[in-house]
Amino acid sequence: MVVYDFTVRETTALERNWPYVTSSMVEAINTCPKWGIIHNVQHKRFVTGFRQMALEAGSLMHEVFSIYNLWQLAVTQKCLGHADVKGKELFGNIRWQIIDFTTIVTMDKPDEVILNKLAYNIIGTSDFYDDPNDKNRTLSNLEHVAIELGSYFLMNHTKFEIYVKDVDNPNSEVGIEQSLDVIFDIELTSGAKVSIRFIGLADVVYQNSKTRKITLGEYKTTASMNDAWREAFRTRHQISAYNGALEAYYTELSYNTILTGSTIPVRKTTTPTQHFNVDRDRENVKDFLSTALFSLGLIKDYPESTAIYAPMFTHSCNRYFRPCSLLDLCSSEKGDQIVMWEQMEIDAEMSPSELKALLRQGA
Ligand code: SF4
Repeated sequence: MVVYDFTVRETTALERNWPYVTSSMVEAINTCPKWGIIHNVQHKRFVTGFRQMALEAGSLMHEVFSIYNLWQLAVTQKCLGHADVKGKELFGNIRWQIIDFTTIVTMDKPDEVILNKLAYNIIGTSDFYDDPNDKNRTLSNLEHVAIELGSYFLMNHTKFEIYVKDVDNPNSEVGIEQSLDVIFDIELTSGAKVSIRFIGLADVVYQNSKTRKITLGEYKTTASMNDAWREAFRTRHQISAYNGALEAYYTELSYNTILTGSTIPVRKTTTPTQHFNVDRDRENVKDFLSTALFSLGLIKDYPESTAIYAPMFTHSCNRYFRPCSLLDLCSSEKGDQIVMWEQMEIDAEMSPSELKALLRQGA
């Protein structure tokens, strides 16, 4: 199945009940199909009592990144009304009131002090709390990461202009945490046509005020920001998929991405924050679509409890130097696996990006 070409468009109201793929689903299925189908598609979990600290800390730092972008919109780009409307949408009315954004951004204080205050308010109003089992992702470490990100943001990011659809209308769209919900209409080299729905969440959408070109901005957190981490984004499907999906919303795309990363915790041996460019083209989007079609085929082949028969990529059982959470399942007798699969709980919690993308559309 070779992808010849594609077009992309916004998902219509009628198509919102279509099954969808996300980049994390595609990644999980290709890490290990059995894992990806049970964990990311069926959302089934063993009850362990352990929190997903990397996910929680990453999600909170995304909120810090967003509040800095809202500050930029309000102060650097002089769109306080737009930032206020978007802030309420992202954080909810009550939390937005407690964050006290408008008062803080209009204070007569240095920018760095204002960003620090906004970050403290975001972290202080979140539901994140320390876990005695995790000494790295603590509230005080996250505050330190946020302060480092704030200083870096002031030196670098304010030159990237955030997209504003209509500067005169505060209710118009702005490029902060933009939901992506699109249909890729794909033409295969055989002549056959197939469509897939993809959802995601673009952290920032920038627009160059001279060229009018749109550029994707993505924020990532990691335990260690070394060359290997950075290099992985040269091929990462998520970046390709998001650039392709943006074609549904904008005509002038740079197909370039500004990727910003933070290390949690801040370490003396590695840079705490950096940003860099990653380029993509439509061929990379086709590569993503081939992988997505392959993943969808596997999802279709192993529905419900037949997921326990899905291919097992056992080289992934100890990925990131930790045993896979389905190891007990996979190492049991097949007869027992059916019973275990039935007893696993369905975690209604989607990944933060899936949840946010769907919630904002009232899906
Ligand atoms: S334990 Fe190994 S084979 Fe089983 S789901 Fe996890 S990665 Fe796949």
